[in-house]
Order: sequence, then C-alpha cells, then structure tokens
Amino acid sequence: MIEHLELHLNLDFKKGALEGKATLKLAGKAGIFLLNRGLKVDSASVPFSWRLEGLRGFEAFEVGVVRLENPLKEVKLSYSGRLESYESVLPYLKDSISREYTLLRTDSLFYPIPSEPDFESLIKSVVGSEFNAEITVEGVPEGLVVAFGGEIGGNRLRIDGTNRLDIAVAPFKVIEKGPFRLFVLGEEGIGRTLELLEKAYWFYSSILGRRTNKFTVIETPENYGGQAGKGYALVSGSSLRAEIPANLYHELAHLWNPRATPEAHLSRFFDEAFANYLTALAIGEIHGEEAFNRFIEGLRRDYEAIVGRFPEAEKLRPSEWGRLGLWELSYTKGALILYDLHLLMEDSFYDVLREIVEKESVDFERFREIIKDVSGIEINV
Ligand SMILES: [Zn+2]
Repeated sequence: MIEHLELHLNLDFKKGALEGKATLKLAGKAGIFLLNRGLKVDSASVPFSWRLEGLRGFEAFEVGVVRLENPLKEVKLSYSGRLESYESVLPYLKDSISREYTLLRTDSLFYPIPSEPDFESLIKSVVGSEFNAEITVEGVPEGLVVAFGGEIGGNRLRIDGTNRLDIAVAPFKVIEKGPFRLFVLGEEGIGRTLELLEKAYWFYSSILGRRTNKFTVIETPENYGGQAGKGYALVSGSSLRAEIPANLYHELAHLWNPRATPEAHLSRFFDEAFANYLTALAIGEIHGEEAFNRFIEGLRRDYEAIVGRFPEAEKLRPSEWGRLGLWELSYTKGALILYDLHLLMEDSFYDVLREIVEKESVDFERFREIIKDVSGIEINV
C-alpha cells in the first residue's frame, strides 16, 4: 500500500495524453503495479516488464501491468501515453484529458497502484491505503482551472491521509465562502446550494462541535458518478443544484466521522451509517419533517431490496457485516439502526453521538458501552 506519493504530471490537452513521473513510498515491498491501459512505462528504478491484462474477476477491465524484477519499498516509475476512458466497461468512468472537461481519478489508474492484476486486490489496495500526496500539474492551458480536494498552490497540489486522488481541469469558477470551496461550471443556482451547505454545516456543528476542516465541492458533467474523498466531493451539476442535495449533506457529514478501529471500519458502520443518519437529520432540520420521513422511507425501501436479494442480511449484526463484505448495509440498515436508537433514547442520542465523535477510536464494544453509560439501554450490535 502507498504511504507517500510524489507525482509530476505533464498533461497534453491536444492528444489527451500525459507524462507522469511517480515516486512511491510503500508500507511494504511491492513488485507489481497497475496503470491505465493507455499508459506505458518508460523507465523504472529496476528492470521491469509491462503488458496489458484483464483484471482477474473483471476481465473486461484491461490494465497495464508493470512487474519489477524485484519488489521494492520505494519505487520510481516514468510513464506516458493517452489516458483511456473505461466507459465501455463502467459507464461512469469517463475520465479523459480534454479541453472540455478533464478528470483524473484513482479509478482510472492515472498513477501506478501497487496491486495484483485482480479486481479484489485492487479495491483492497485502494480502500485500505492512507497516503500523503504531493503533485505538480503542468501543461494546463490558460483559461482552465485545476480543481482538487486538498491544498492548491500554483500548480502544486497536496493532500494528506487520503486513500484516493481526484483532479479535475475545466473552465471552473471558484467560489470560496467560510469553510466551503466550490469549483463550478456555471454559477446559476449555486447561491442556494451554498446557503443549504452552510445550514447543514452549522447544524452538524451545533450537535457535534465545530470542525476547522475545509470542504471542497467539484462539479462534474452528468453521469460521471458521484465521488468523495477526504474533505471533498465530486458531484454532477444536477445533484449540486438538487432541491434537497442529500449527497452533499452526506459527504459534508463525513467531516464529523467517528474514528473506528481498522477491524470495526470494515463494516463502514461508523462512517457510512453515521453519515447517512446525519444526512437524514440535516434534511429534517433544513427541509422539514416530511422530507425527513421521505428520506428514511427511501432507506427502508433500499434495505428491503437488499433483503429481497439476500434474506440472511436480516439476521446479521453490524459488527458482522465487515467480515462478510456486506458493508453496503451500513448505508441503509446501519442508518435505520441509528434512527431506531434515536427514537428509543430521544435527546440523549446526541450525547452518544458527541461521545463517539470525540473518542480516539471506537468499535462496536465501545459503542455498546457508551449507549449503556448514557441511557442504561443495552443494545446488540
Ligand atoms: Zn459516505
């Protein structure tokens, strides 16, 4: 897994191509790296081979596989070529380099990722990583703006403790207000979005305490798929201007994530269930009780659809979801569990939330203890 990444990118907007120089510091030695299928390795720290292969478990997803003669802990790779979209295998994955809209996401492998050429290994390598990245971007024509979720200083980008990278280049307008930084393709309707975001921010702050982090929103064209990283979200123009921008409330709520132990994190309960239930509360606060009920009903419907496909899901406890790879249940059932708990505990539920958010780290055992301490209620998660 990557611990530190230094990346120099030179973008060619006429050819849709890039030249990359990456220096990776890894948690352990690795000898195999995956790259976008259009990118070829020109040089590496040690002799290497390169060839195109389909990912095991998802053969239609072709990647460049770089095999080093011997595994290393620190690797330098130079690569170049046309960044190819994966639209034909994953319709949302339209990443490309063009004057209209350039998007570089971890998903399209625009930098080398240590992993076996296997879909599951790739997901694990990405989801389980936490690295600092320093990136320089060159070749951006005048009139285009680089959007990024971390710090931006000239053509230098920096982000700490991330598991992914997302860089967009387009004729963005940049709107900064309070904790928010928005990269938008047009200003229409954005005033309202900003107001709603501010309301949600103050609501979360009022129940969970202030956060000093910035929150960045990057607009994408339609059908690029929503994406979120540490302190930022990529959203389409229509969801950015939605009547109730629930996914923005959700991503914003992640700033108040409890810190789960690695084991407990697998279930995604302490990030996704919490983010989705906080979203429900923000919707209730800003848009009223009816909107809150509609959101909860939506979660219930989605959960029932999962149970329809997989009836055993009903019997499992959240602490078992991670081990079984059923973390998706956190978005629906997880949030509904928090809702039930809220009904049961009434206002003392907020004391539990605050305690959990302030803890150094939490797991299901701690969660049970805190609920018992605060309310005397014993739950079985
Ligand atoms: Zn989330």
